[in-house]
Amino acid sequence: MKLYNTSSKQVETISSLSNDSKIGVYACGPTVYDYAHIGHMRKYTMDDVLVRTLEKTGWQVNHVMNITDVGHLVSDGDTGEDKMEKGARKTGKTVWEVAQHFEEDFWQKLDRMEVRRPDTAPRATDHIAEQIAQVQALEKNGFTYEIPGDGIYFDTSQDPHYGELARLQLEEQKEGARIGVTEGKRNPADFALWKFSPTDQQRAMEWDSPWGKGFPGWHIECSAMSMCYLGEQFEIHTGGIDHIPVHHTNEIAQAENATGKRPFVQYWVHHNFLLVDGQKMSKSLENFYTLDDVEERGFSPMALKMLFLSANYRDELNFTWESLAAMQKGYEKLQRKAQQLLEQSAYESWEDVPEVGAVTLSAELQKIYDDFVYQMTNDLKTPQALATVWKLTKCKDVQAIVLLKEMFEFLFSPYNKTVYADWTVKLCSGSPRTLINENVFFFF
Ligand SMILES: [Zn+2]
Repeated sequence: MKLYNTSSKQVETISSLSNDSKIGVYACGPTVYDYAHIGHMRKYTMDDVLVRTLEKTGWQVNHVMNITDVGHLVSDGDTGEDKMEKGARKTGKTVWEVAQHFEEDFWQKLDRMEVRRPDTAPRATDHIAEQIAQVQALEKNGFTYEIPGDGIYFDTSQDPHYGELARLQLEEQKEGARIGVTEGKRNPADFALWKFSPTDQQRAMEWDSPWGKGFPGWHIECSAMSMCYLGEQFEIHTGGIDHIPVHHTNEIAQAENATGKRPFVQYWVHHNFLLVDGQKMSKSLENFYTLDDVEERGFSPMALKMLFLSANYRDELNFTWESLAAMQKGYEKLQRKAQQLLEQSAYESWEDVPEVGAVTLSAELQKIYDDFVYQMTNDLKTPQALATVWKLTKCKDVQAIVLLKEMFEFLFSPYNKTVYADWTVKLCSGSPRTLINENVFFFF
């Protein structure tokens, strides 16, 4: 399997750190203060396609995705309101009700998209102790300082590797231009590890810490929780390209300087944006669509999934209702072909269709399948892989049904995930409320 690694700026053949078939995948998950839009769905769909492809090609994957339910401020510069508290104020609910409502909605949307849930989905508020422990480790190693009345900050000037992921030119980074001014910061890129609660009001979410009452900075949850479930160093970390300069850069700084081990992550995988009618999605442009909007207009979530697959995850993708309509037609055509082949075959149902490898394929079918796997394992070239699926629709050989089923499992349909009981994982000391994949009891 080859993937483009943002860290090396090259396509690399991936390998397991434990020299076996185990791969840890950490995906930055949703901040549950609002409904997920179709741009978010693109990212989680492609994460799932990545995990499916790894599994289909023999890797044992532990897929961890966090749920951000505290500490994600509206600005990247450690200023502004906590998104959760803002969501609560807007809806008149408590922060906990807001988190629960939007998290449930998020899982339902993934289910409708037939995007498999991750193996483990830890919430930030269940891992405050681990986050405090990581800040303490950074403090002990000399990477922190306090801004009185504000919080504990990471001193980026102490880390010679800071910003390598994004190739940041720190000396050129103008304070204020990008991340807003915070009084007392030693360097423009310094960021909050722990924020103090205001003295004149009580926050809805706050915890005691060695530095006083407060709440964690957003970035610390991802380095603390990924290390909890996947170890101090692991293989793949995914996220949107907008996370490269700040969130992921800061995750790396936290993890590597807390443990002294580099690199924190072997392969950084970044997803590009979804545009709507050529523009960035925004509420003011009224082009902020959710899966509900797609379904209300009569489209299948699978048509949306097909639209996502029609572009490489590293490229921008433009959503239009016309392109979605074309995808709907395409998906229906594929379904009709599958039904037709099934009727012509000796198999009674879709479940009876054997796996590739269990039957001998004609040379023509074998070539189509090899092409498909080649495209999927070469940095997830899903548009090219879809093109090989289309070749099958013209194929007269009834055994094409075997390939079609396999390709659907790579790209679309749910299938039972293999449970690997021997995945050893360091468990958090906290008590994570963990979401478990359908039918799968992975660790608990
Ligand atoms: Zn993250």
